[in-house]
Amino acid sequence: MTNFNVIAATDATGLAEPFDARHLIDGRWQASADGATFERASPAHGSLVTRASRGGPQDVEMAISAARTAFDNGTWSQTSGKDRATLLLKVADLIDRERDRIALMETMESGKPISQAKAEIEGAADLWRYAASLARTMHGESHNTLGNDMLGMVLKEPIGVVAIITPWNFPFLIVSQKLPFALAAGCTAVIKPSEMTPATTAILGELVIEAGLPTGVVNIVLGYGDPVGAAMTTDRRVDMVTFTGSTAVGKAIVSAASGTLKKVSLELGGKNPQVIFPDADLDGAADAVVFGVYFNAGECCNSGSRIIVHEDIADDFVGRITALSRKVPFGDPLDPETKVGAIITPEHCAKIDRYVRDAAAGGAEIKLGGGALPVPGLNGQFYQPTVIANVGSQMPIAREEVFGPVLSVLTFRTLDEAIALVNDAEYGLSAGVWSDDVHTCLEFARRAQAGTVWTNTWMDGFAELPFGGVRESGQGRELGRYGLEEFLEAKTVMMRIGRTRTPWVDPQTA
Ligand code: NAD
Repeated sequence: MTNFNVIAATDATGLAEPFDARHLIDGRWQASADGATFERASPAHGSLVTRASRGGPQDVEMAISAARTAFDNGTWSQTSGKDRATLLLKVADLIDRERDRIALMETMESGKPISQAKAEIEGAADLWRYAASLARTMHGESHNTLGNDMLGMVLKEPIGVVAIITPWNFPFLIVSQKLPFALAAGCTAVIKPSEMTPATTAILGELVIEAGLPTGVVNIVLGYGDPVGAAMTTDRRVDMVTFTGSTAVGKAIVSAASGTLKKVSLELGGKNPQVIFPDADLDGAADAVVFGVYFNAGECCNSGSRIIVHEDIADDFVGRITALSRKVPFGDPLDPETKVGAIITPEHCAKIDRYVRDAAAGGAEIKLGGGALPVPGLNGQFYQPTVIANVGSQMPIAREEVFGPVLSVLTFRTLDEAIALVNDAEYGLSAGVWSDDVHTCLEFARRAQAGTVWTNTWMDGFAELPFGGVRESGQGRELGRYGLEEFLEAKTVMMRIGRTRTPWVDPQTA
């Protein structure tokens, strides 16, 4: 395995003992009503990491009741922006205090590198602080130009009880893209983390209680999509579902939620292209491409999993990428030097490999990698950094989410051709362009059909800027002011000034 930069098992000990995760319902930590549990092992090390209560219909019922009661009695929904902000800031400080503990759990459950996990927890604390700023500054509209006898107002009100359903790839960061914004708006919540990564959401539950959030405002039910997630999407007492996960489950949620016409916001998958022009900073582009495809082992909605390279530079550029790929440290996620850790499950690792085999059978050329990566001293599952050229635009590997460290390379001759390839997709999450010509970048930014466009950069993100997808990548936006708006309803109030209303019926009529 000398071809790759493999980080063998470290001496780091991981967890002293497995985490015991239970539901948080109406301010109390509870086992499942039927006593059921499930376990999670480290995808890198194989060791038991978490024993969690496995929610059923009764647990969901109690959690939704608690969230509904807490919303309706106004203990949170009628507090001032100042009070909400104070509490959100307190949670942010507690997240900072617990950073190392949360990051370790995140690494042990998800397989992501510890240095990355720490950065994600810091990023999550920042989101809580940003949401606190929104809690104090949100406002509606007033209309003072409707005539002398009329004043109009648009009040912003919390939408109500929000069901939050999250995936395993960024468990703590994604719940922090939703929950503080929902709380800033005045909503109450029932949260279901992925069955793969329940622990850090449970730790967040500890922190919101310690910060002093009123009972029942945040509830957490652990367990599987069916029955926990499914019950959260059909219950009439839930006003909104905010979901991050696969497009297939997103579609199932839209149809489940249609029975009660609750609002649904969705952050789904992507097959995100970067277009590389010959006049670009090719070293910078190559580094960003390698980062974009291997970050989080490619298990990332924003994975830059396909590049579209100008024909004149394709061979040179692929050479740069394969050379850089060999240098990326893959291996034990507990080693602070590691940049790419384990694949979430053996089944998912096999799925990644099937995409690669099928592409090769269909005529694509494996330039690098294309198989499992043994890591000395570990018995978890890892996949090699993989680069595949000669990929046809209709091949599954060019269109579907592989969700692994696998890069597909396509080529183009003209800007129109590149844009056509970018937009010939079911997904529309993000897209990027690399060129030193500002006109090329602007034209690309306008014509690419995606929720986010990066020019001469990849995968930057800011609390201030909205994030979300078009087409089958989702609906609605997270982050920024848009992220708060998702959790607000607009109520129109019209007020007559004085007894000026013209009667509809003439009282003098006989
Ligand atoms: P998933 O869709 O399998 O599961 C996501 C969550 O939904 C889990 O908590 C799961 O238990 C729950 N669930 C499953 N079936 C359900 C049902 N019928 N009703 C309600 N809930 C149900 O996704 P995953 O494998 O955990 O995560 C990977 C996916 O998430 C990828 O497709 C990735 O692109 C996407 N993702 C998107 C973004 C984004 O912001 N666009 C961010 C991260 C991940």
